[in-house]
Amino acid sequence: SGSSLIVSFGEMLIDFVPTVSGVSLAEAPGFLKAPGGAPANVAIAVARLGGKAAFVGKLGDDEFGHMLAGILKQNGVIGDGINFDKGARTALAFVTLRADGEREFMFYRNPSADMLLKPEELNLELIRSAKVFHYGSISLIVEPCRSAHLKAMEVAKDAGALLSYDPNLRLPLWPSPEEAREQIMSIWDKAEVIKVSDVELEFLTGSDKIDDADALSLWHPNLKLLLVTLGEKGCRYYTKNFHGSVEAFHVKTVDTTGAGDSFVGALLCKIVDDRSILEDEPRLREVLKFANACGAITTTKKGAIPALPTEQDALTLIKG
Ligand code: ADP
Repeated sequence: SGSSLIVSFGEMLIDFVPTVSGVSLAEAPGFLKAPGGAPANVAIAVARLGGKAAFVGKLGDDEFGHMLAGILKQNGVIGDGINFDKGARTALAFVTLRADGEREFMFYRNPSADMLLKPEELNLELIRSAKVFHYGSISLIVEPCRSAHLKAMEVAKDAGALLSYDPNLRLPLWPSPEEAREQIMSIWDKAEVIKVSDVELEFLTGSDKIDDADALSLWHPNLKLLLVTLGEKGCRYYTKNFHGSVEAFHVKTVDTTGAGDSFVGALLCKIVDDRSILEDEPRLREVLKFANACGAITTTKKGAIPALPTEQDALTLIKG
């Protein structure tokens, strides 16, 4: 993969997941620590594929924050963009998939360190050296991290980076669905590559049976590629000149956490040194096949970070 830098901006946190499946948070006999946060997962996905990745965000100057920074480092992610907040603690989430199929969440974010990243704390030199700047998550919700987010996007863009956005909608984190939609749409027309899941597309368009017209209703003039991920049905892609779908790989899925981040990391690795792929349908389809393979592999193991593939893992699945 390319040697150009991909910077991923946003939050990193620890998910506490029950040691047994199918229980509510209150019933859990204990929890396992699963480091994550979509932007951090993307950075590690890129690095594991052999790309050059940096993470920009803020952690607590506590046990968990240093543990997370260590995980980035062990995985070869450049850490020069990490700040540690002296006062606030690292974000934590308690997450379970109950027996009734409902997800249950509880967050420690009142406020957590990631929400306190200030514009003046950004490592602008690092951000300016990005060829791709990826973001997307909950860093838009509150100040000061919202201003930091907007500034980082602008600096990266002015320095010539391709902007890549994954809204990573997790509704329980937002004050209201209306606010989530409004904030996501407020930065929608900045990104040149956007990846949404089918669920997010339904949420953003208000349509419950999504089709090409719904996806294209979200098109904007700066956009070069819109991707809709469909889980075990693969993905759909839209560009100014063509659109289509690429089917998924059949694998034994045990946990889909991080599949979307793995997919995005793979895509960014392949386009960071050659943006002309975005205008070349056969080559784009090859890249999306690779991204689908990476997403599929990530579903075959528990957790996100431990399940992210190497390039060789993906090529092995593709060869069959
Ligand atoms: P997100 O995590 O953003 O909701 P998806 O779950 O759709 O995204 O997963 C991203 C990609 O990972 C999909 O487009 C697909 O290629 C792959 N993937 C996800 N779930 C599966 C699955 N069950 N089987 C095979 N591939 C999958």
